[in-house]
Amino acid sequence: MNIHYLTTSRSNPQFYSFIQFFGDHSDCTSCDWEAILQAAWQNFWQREGHDLLELKWHKRFPEYKSLINVVTPEEQTFWQELWEKHTTELSAKFWRILNCAFENYQNELVKSFGTSLEQVEQDFIDLNITERVSKSKKRKQKKQQEVDGDDEPFLPSTEDDLVLDEYEQLKVLGLPTNFGPQKYPKQHKPRNKLHESSSSDCSDCCQEILIMERDKSLALHGVQSGLVSKRQKPKKKKIWANEMMPDFMQNEGKGQMVKYWLKRFSLFSRFDQGIRLDRESWFSVTPEKIAKQTARRLSCDLIVDAFCGCGGNAIQFANTCGRVIAVDIDAEKLAMAKHNAGIYGVAHKIEFIHADFLQFAVSSRIRPNVVFLSPPWGGPGYQKQANFDIERSLLPVGANELMKRARLLSDNVGFFLPRNSNMTQVVALSGAGQQCEVEHNFLDTRMVALTAYYGNEVIRNTPP
Ligand code: ADP
Repeated sequence: MNIHYLTTSRSNPQFYSFIQFFGDHSDCTSCDWEAILQAAWQNFWQREGHDLLELKWHKRFPEYKSLINVVTPEEQTFWQELWEKHTTELSAKFWRILNCAFENYQNELVKSFGTSLEQVEQDFIDLNITERVSKSKKRKQKKQQEVDGDDEPFLPSTEDDLVLDEYEQLKVLGLPTNFGPQKYPKQHKPRNKLHESSSSDCSDCCQEILIMERDKSLALHGVQSGLVSKRQKPKKKKIWANEMMPDFMQNEGKGQMVKYWLKRFSLFSRFDQGIRLDRESWFSVTPEKIAKQTARRLSCDLIVDAFCGCGGNAIQFANTCGRVIAVDIDAEKLAMAKHNAGIYGVAHKIEFIHADFLQFAVSSRIRPNVVFLSPPWGGPGYQKQANFDIERSLLPVGANELMKRARLLSDNVGFFLPRNSNMTQVVALSGAGQQCEVEHNFLDTRMVALTAYYGNEVIRNTPP
């Protein structure tokens, strides 16, 4: 059973991924951190930036659509400036979150190679390439100061640090922080008459422009009054009153389980259309944004999803691949997967096969382009291992044996693994003289898991 981390924005966390190539004898000393960070930002902003800007803009200024056609040229300039400010503010906010995720990534990655950042820096010193390290350090410090201020603590990525992490992330995301365990005492801000809006989404600068304009008494079709007027705080919903919540959650201690319920839309965006999950799947199904990314990466004619479970991955593969063969040893899970695929309108593209994948790989004659492996991680205990041993702890067999079986079907394999997997073992699965591409998946600043890609057809840009 895999357990994915609760993410701080729960229903709609942002997805980031950091990608590297590893070959024989790779470790972190050869990481080009700067390039990885830039690539992650580009990937995120190209994928999400436009929609995020639009979404937040229309949420803040619902009147914009109806007003924009009747405004004067002056007012148009005003809106244009507001949009530019909005863009700058929002991209800075997400850049800040990405940087926090990146710091977590660096720490986790070096740990997974069984070393430490200090050791990596020492290696650089020994290699007489310290300038690169100190440049990277300075860059981080500078960004930290520019964007966050000096007193921002580092955001850890472990479950142990959940309280600090969640509080800080909520703060960063501009979300309410007054629920959940209270790590910090509430700070009473002096009441500022001009900043009355309770919208936590709004970037302050945009409000400031409006307020300035209002003070100058420049009428804008009544826009200002609508924007700066105090909004009613929505009443807190009684989340426990929801009849849809599965019985086991109601019975197993509300405090523990509420986080899984809150993230239901991050698991399946169409959850409320009738998605079915059994108890284990609530903890182990791949969150939709990660499943989508894997599906984008593994797009092909025919793919085998070897441990399909309730269908989180298979559904997304159906959107990017010609055909999907979804295998699972548990007939009930397959039935749920089929039902869930129907909700996404892709059931007709998936062939559900009730089988033990280990035997299926030996006996099947199909030759897919790609095999995707998301085997059981051996229960929640995986989180306690500093370095998750993928040969001993994965089920039903070790990673090496599983790869051997998968390669009977195809040389191209995607492998979904715990975030704390022993990286030396992950790289070793490539085989002598071969490479793999490793993608660390984050929801907000929390590392959820990693996906390793093997085989020439799925490794994207083989570096020289
Ligand atoms: P879950 O919590 O849904 O059981 P796991 O991560 O533990 O998730 O397992 C993933 C899926 O792998 C499950 O649906 C399980 O039934 C399936 N599975 C386990 N062993 C095999 C196997 N040998 N062949 C095919 N599917 C398997």
